[in-house]
Amino acid sequence: MKIDSAKIEALRELLAAPHRKIVLVAHTNPDGDAIGASTAWRDVLAAMGHEVTMIVPNKYPYFLDWMPDIREVVIFRFAPERALEAIRGADIVFCLDFNSLSRLEALSDALAENTAARRVLIDHHLSPDGGFDLQFSYPQSSSTCFLLYCIIEQLCGTEVITRKMAEALYVGMMTDTGNFSFSFLTPALYRALAVLVEKGIDVAGIHNSVYNGYTEDRARLFGYAIHRKMNIIQEGTAAYMSLTEAEMRRYRFQQGDSEGFVNYPLTIKKMKMSAMFLGHHKFIRVSLRSRGDVDVNLFARKYFDGGGHKNAAGGKSYVSMDETIAHYIRSVEEFAREGGLDTPPLR
Ligand code: 5GP
Ligand code: MN
Repeated sequence: MKIDSAKIEALRELLAAPHRKIVLVAHTNPDGDAIGASTAWRDVLAAMGHEVTMIVPNKYPYFLDWMPDIREVVIFRFAPERALEAIRGADIVFCLDFNSLSRLEALSDALAENTAARRVLIDHHLSPDGGFDLQFSYPQSSSTCFLLYCIIEQLCGTEVITRKMAEALYVGMMTDTGNFSFSFLTPALYRALAVLVEKGIDVAGIHNSVYNGYTEDRARLFGYAIHRKMNIIQEGTAAYMSLTEAEMRRYRFQQGDSEGFVNYPLTIKKMKMSAMFLGHHKFIRVSLRSRGDVDVNLFARKYFDGGGHKNAAGGKSYVSMDETIAHYIRSVEEFAREGGLDTPPLR
């Protein structure tokens, strides 16, 4: 994927001065793409001689624990002072894998405090907020890791990519494409993957570490969610699932356990969109997925104060679970009336 060369030159200039203090921030509930991009980009910048701190607002899911250097990522919720000190002293802040500072939750105020730092966005979500000195926003990239790979390729060549970095980038590319099954699966992506494989990564091993590292409780929670909590509406074209905090406690829920649940209803023929509602102490987290031309980014923006990508988006709901579900059912009806589900037949 071709990156605007004027932007690459602007980035080169920004990084030309030696020993810059650099902070990398990624989004709340960091996923494989956020962590992969953080650790890979950290290695590139550190090799240039910069001092880099990686920060995320809260803990990453346990199935990423095996990732190299993941313990060096500062978790703002656990170590706020360390994170704040790095942010206050930063010359440059890179915002990775999110499009709006609000996605940083408590961390966004801290970032707003340091007005001296140059801000650079590297992201693939639709409609980013403004306020960046340099913006690499490529929604046609299937992951931030692939975008970052393209930036690295044009900035310094793929020779700088080590096996460890290749592994991190692969995790992001694999997880954000649903193991290479969603959209934007371009020839350029597969060429990048070939280069990563040439670096000696263990593809089957990475797959196994990410997807086969769950607990027994999680497998049983999945069975419960599908068997007891999946509802199908709109003549079989829309689905929703919900899990309350009490239900999650029953299965000793750990962050990351619900990963992939929302995709499952889309395995049903003719299903066009799926929603998952997860109870939290403050609000209900909404996850949305769709197939083909059904645009859940629009749906999330209009009905759930969120956003994301066309086929994978999310948002929040500040009312009870029952009211959230009623709101979803009404919203799907309206969305369908307005043509949101009128898409060409799926293959
Ligand atoms: P997930 O369902 O995996 O949490 O999120 C799916 C996609 O939607 C991700 O790309 C994520 O960045 C985006 N997303 C999730 N929650 C929100 C939200 O509250 N606001 C916005 N703007 N995007 C979200
Ligand atoms: Mn991503």
